[in-house]
This record gives sequence, C-alpha cells and structure tokens, in this order.
Amino acid sequence: MPELARNYWLSTQTGRRFSFDAGALCLEFATTGGEGARQAWETLHQPSDLASWAARSRLGAATRIEPHAMALTPGDLADAVLLREAIWFAATDLALARQPRRADLQAINRAASSAPMVPAIGMTDRQRTWVTPVTGAQLLSTVARDAIELFTGPNAARIRQCAGPMCSLVFVDTSRPGRRRWCSMERCGNIDKQRALRARRRPGPEGGPPGISDGRRPGAGAGRPG
Ligand SMILES: [Zn+2]
Repeated sequence: MPELARNYWLSTQTGRRFSFDAGALCLEFATTGGEGARQAWETLHQPSDLASWAARSRLGAATRIEPHAMALTPGDLADAVLLREAIWFAATDLALARQPRRADLQAINRAASSAPMVPAIGMTDRQRTWVTPVTGAQLLSTVARDAIELFTGPNAARIRQCAGPMCSLVFVDTSRPGRRRWCSMERCGNIDKQRALRARRRPGPEGGPPGISDGRRPGAGAGRPG
C-alpha cells in the first residue's frame, strides 16, 4: 500500500484548511465531497480536479503523479462520483457496525474489475513511476481495490466516524493504541478541547462539580466540512 500522504488537508466551508489523515487512499477519496449535505464541500467539479486530487493523495505521495499525465473525461468524473458515494456509505456503515448496502459493494466491485494503474521502474534512475497516460478507469480501479483491501482486512474494525457531534468524516484509526476520536485535532479535537475548558471554568449548579465533558454535546461542533 502507498505510504501516508504528508500534509493532506481538507477545507472547511469558509476555506480554512485542516490536516486530515484518512488512513487509507479510498477514504481520502471518499471525503472529496458528495451528495446531499456533503455537496457543500465538493472539490471534484471537472475531470482535472480528479487528476489534482490523485496527485496530492497518498497515491501521488508514494509515487509522483503528474496531473497532465492523466487522461480523464467527463464520463470518468461521473463514474468517480458514483464510486465515491459507494465507498462513503460502505465505510460509514462499517464505522457504525452496520452491514453495507449491496448496491454500494457492487459499485466498488465493478470499479475494481477494470485494470488498475500500472507501476514502472525508471530506466536510468530506477525510480518508481506510473505508466502513462493513466486513465480514469485505472485510477478508479486503484481506489476501489484499496477499498476492498481495507473493508476485508484487519483495519476494517478500525474504521471510525469522527466523534464531533456535527461531523461525519470517516477515517481508519491506524494509531497503535487505537483510540483516535477526531477527524483532526485542528478541527473537531480542538473544538472539544475548548468546550471542555469552558465547561471546567463554569461553576457547577449550587457550587457543585464543574461540568463534565462528554464530547457529544449538541451544538458544540463546527458543522460538516465544506
Ligand atoms: Zn470531525
């Protein structure tokens, strides 16, 4: 599997960036936008956006991808959006200990059935590269295969939804202790820390103990990413 992409980030609706370690390529892909409320943080507007995402994903971090070396069409973008919904919902179901929908698993299998991106070794520098041009079907197959690896492997039990009360981001907890709760400490982790601080400073009723943070109080979150 490709190595962790350094400095991978998402943007809030106000354009503020926060670092986000999805823990897996397929979940980096799943959090590029979506349907319904997730439309607010859509990043894939045209085929070239898909190429830009691939270049900055952990796939591109492990082996450089030049966006101009990808041959992507509007049809690929439409397929990408369908695959993204399938991965998002299947991952969310797994995070919430539910059985993923059959249609979502079928969509992932369908994308994975195409040939994936092909690695190559440079003739003189012996550096790893990709055979280009990379097609949309190859990119989506690579992402879908990553989802199959994740959903069927030991880390499937480590797929989590952020504990932020207004946040639905999903990630794989790859930390050794396995106690990661937040999409990002910069975002939901920090909001919770501030809230706990405020609760501690506020005197309890009739001089009782200060408020206890349970991390789930409604209204304390910053909304979904956008
Ligand atoms: Zn969050």
